[in-house]
Amino acid sequence: MKLARRVSAIAPSKTFGVDSMVSEMRKKGIDVVSFGIGEPDFDTPDYVKEAGIDAINRGYTKYTQASGSPELKEAICEKLKRDNNLDYQPSQVIVSCGAKHAIYNIMQAMCEDGDEIIIPSPYWLSYPEQVRLNGGIPVFVKADFGQGFKVSPEALASAITKRTKLMIINSPCNPSGVVYTRSELEAIAEVALKHGVYVISDEIYEDFVYDGIEHVSIASLGDEIKEITLVVNGVSKGFAMTGWRIGYVAGDQEIIKAMANIQSHTTSNPVSISQKAAIAALRGPKDWTRQMVSEFKARRDLVAEGLRDIPGIEFNLPRGAFYMFPRVSSLYGRRLGGVQVKDSASFCEALLAEARVALVPGSAFGDDECVRLSYATSTEKVKEGMRRLKEALLNMQ
Ligand SMILES: *Cc1c(COP(=O)(O)O)cnc(C)c1O
Repeated sequence: MKLARRVSAIAPSKTFGVDSMVSEMRKKGIDVVSFGIGEPDFDTPDYVKEAGIDAINRGYTKYTQASGSPELKEAICEKLKRDNNLDYQPSQVIVSCGAKHAIYNIMQAMCEDGDEIIIPSPYWLSYPEQVRLNGGIPVFVKADFGQGFKVSPEALASAITKRTKLMIINSPCNPSGVVYTRSELEAIAEVALKHGVYVISDEIYEDFVYDGIEHVSIASLGDEIKEITLVVNGVSKGFAMTGWRIGYVAGDQEIIKAMANIQSHTTSNPVSISQKAAIAALRGPKDWTRQMVSEFKARRDLVAEGLRDIPGIEFNLPRGAFYMFPRVSSLYGRRLGGVQVKDSASFCEALLAEARVALVPGSAFGDDECVRLSYATSTEKVKEGMRRLKEALLNMQ
């Protein structure tokens, strides 16, 4: 049997089996502290669950418009106005099966064979694979540790060719936790406008910002940049609704219409019940999210405090999302539990075996000097994990 060429174009998961190692160890009864998780450990808020239950009880269990129900699109427009000062009509909005699917639909609608898509690196690991699945070429622009994980407008500009179709901006960023300021976004917007490159602004972590920092949507910086920006967001992270699968895009009506057409022949509408729940989430009080975020802030501080005590680890204090992305490359060449660590993958494997702490190798996100630590886990586990991490690293030889 011969599989389609697009399948071999995508890389196998670069997490080097850390995930499967964790589940194997747990099956054997070994207690592992996992900092590998990419979703809030909180339960979906009750008022949201109730809206879902109510939808079932009322028989709201049939197809909706393929691009999402008019009511949810209205709620999304209200949200974008209220939180981001963005004016959109419902016809400029599509609801998809999660933000991941939303981005995939953009690629389907816009990316042609050989088109170049600019991705600041480190990046969320699905971006390059989604580009490749659509025949595009991911072009990585360095935003590494030494630059505070921020891409410079000059580097973006010099990566642009006549094949460049899109650039992806993810602020707050997974995995680095970086949050771009208004003026940094203005400089990026200027580059995009000058070269006529469309921007995907993945704002899925918008609620997770700390230290009084403000999340700014690049689309809100002016009418011109708004026209060439596709704002991607969803309820997965901010309302702990990863399993409900609701994400959305707001942008140019023609692109949205093309995406809706594609979606109508692929998934049809996102789950009707989840759509009702998402309306409740978006229209509900923000207190629940605020409380969750203040808990994440306390955990971030706890992790930062712990990491400061460990020689050989360096980090930029993340201002957003729920990840730390410390640089551990100064420890490469040393031994951890009898294994010589040579890169982020062997570091994570040795750490898991030796200290029963799971991190994700930075190589999965395009940065082999670093590792990703998610603090979307209980304070108690964070404390225990940091204790184990410190002990193991202090004992490296
Ligand atoms: C989690 C995540 C998403 C996708 O979220 P879903 O709505 O669950 O599909 C998109 N972008 C980034 C950067 C993420 O971390």
